[in-house]
Amino acid sequence: MKVFVVNCGSSSIKYQLFDMQDESVVGKGIAEKIGLPMGIVSLKIEGTGEKVERELPLPNHEVALATILELLTAKNIIRDKADIGVIGHRLVHAGEFYHSSVVVTEDVLEKMTECNDLAPLHNPHNITGVKTCQKLFPGAFHGGCFDTAFHQTMPDYAYMYPIDHSWYEKYKVRRYGFHGTSHGYVAQQAAEFLKKPLAKLRVITAHLGNGSSIAAISNGESVDTSMGMTPLEGLMMGTRCGDIDPALVFFAARKGVSLDDFDKLLNKKSGMMGVGGISNDMRDNWKAIHEGNKRAELAMKMFTYRLKKYIGAYAAAMGGVEAIIFTGGIGENDWDVRKMACEGLEYMGVELDPDKNKGLRSKLADISKPSSKVKVLVVPTNEELVIARESYRLYNETKKR
Ligand code: AMP
Repeated sequence: MKVFVVNCGSSSIKYQLFDMQDESVVGKGIAEKIGLPMGIVSLKIEGTGEKVERELPLPNHEVALATILELLTAKNIIRDKADIGVIGHRLVHAGEFYHSSVVVTEDVLEKMTECNDLAPLHNPHNITGVKTCQKLFPGAFHGGCFDTAFHQTMPDYAYMYPIDHSWYEKYKVRRYGFHGTSHGYVAQQAAEFLKKPLAKLRVITAHLGNGSSIAAISNGESVDTSMGMTPLEGLMMGTRCGDIDPALVFFAARKGVSLDDFDKLLNKKSGMMGVGGISNDMRDNWKAIHEGNKRAELAMKMFTYRLKKYIGAYAAAMGGVEAIIFTGGIGENDWDVRKMACEGLEYMGVELDPDKNKGLRSKLADISKPSSKVKVLVVPTNEELVIARESYRLYNETKKR
C-alpha cells in the first residue's frame, strides 16, 4: 500500500510517497510558485537519487497536484492514481475540536473552516489541498494530523491568556501551540533511545527551523509550548518576532502603520531577518557573523538567549527535566546554536559534550557528557512519516469496521 503525504501551503505543496510495507520513502518533492506566472515541480526518487524538475505555470493547487501525479507516473513510481489508496494531510489548526489524528470527513472540513480565523494563513490552504485531492483521487482514503492536536493536553493555566475571559468564551482566543506532530514524534524517539518509557520522563523539545517552537512534555503529554493562538508567539524565528510587548500594536497604529503592514512586519520582516538584516537562514547569518557583521551577531545572541530562557522556564514548569531534545533544520544541524543555548545551564545538570556536539548533523545522538544529569539529544524529526503512519492506521481501522 502506498500512502501519499501532502502538505499544502498558500503557494506550494510538499509531498512524500511512502511504501507502507517497510515505511520507505519512494519519492518526494515540492510544487512551488503556485499562482505565479511560472511554477516548478520537483521530484526526488529515493531509490536512485535521481532528481527531476519541471517548469510550467501552476495556476492553482489542482494543476500542481495533477503535475506531481504525472511526474510520479512518468517515472514509473506509480502506475496510475489508483495506486494511491491513502492520502495523509498535514493540517494546521483544529481549535479545541481534535486531540488526535482524524479521518478527514466533511465534518472535519467544516470544523477547520470554523478555525479559519485562528489560522488564516494556513487553514484555508489546507482545506483547498484536501478538496483538490478528493477530486483528483476519488477512491482514496483521507487521513490527517493537526499541528495543534498534541498540545490539547495543556492545562488551562498554561493555555489561557491573561485577558478578559469573554474573549475565550466568544472567540476561543487561547494558546493552542503548533508543530505538535514533530514534538510528539521526537519525544517518543528520545524515550526509545534512552530506553525509558515516555510516560515516566520530563522532556523539553526544541523544534528549531524557519518556524521555531519549544514544548514541555511531562509523562508523554504536552504541558506547555511556546507558540500560542497563532505560530507568531514564543521563540524568535527566521522572520517572525516571537514574544513582544503587545502594546507595540497601539504604538504602530499611532504611528500610522496599517494593520496589514504591521502583520507583515511581525510575520515576515522580524526575527533573524529583521534584527540581523541579512537573511532568515541561519547559515547566511553565520557567514555574516564570521565576516564581522555585528547585527547578525546580535540576532544570533538574541535567538539563543530567548531559547535558553524558555528551557529554564519549562524545567521550572515541570519541576525538573530528564532530557532536552533539539530538532528541526537548525536544531539538527547547527551545533553552535545548541552550544549557545546550553551554555550556563550546568547549574541545572546540563553538561554538553563539545566533541559529541560539534559536527553532528541530522543524526539521533546523545551530545551530553556521561555525567550530565540532563541528557541532551539531537533527534531528526519526521512529521511526514507520522502522518503516513497515522493515516494508514486510521485506514486499516476504518476498513475493519
Ligand atoms: P526547517 O524549517 O526545519 O527546514 O529549517 C530551516 C532552517 O534550518 C534554516 O534557518 C537553515 O539555515 C537551517 N539549517 C539547515 N541546515 C543547516 C546547517 N547545516 N547549519 C545551520 N543551519 C542549518
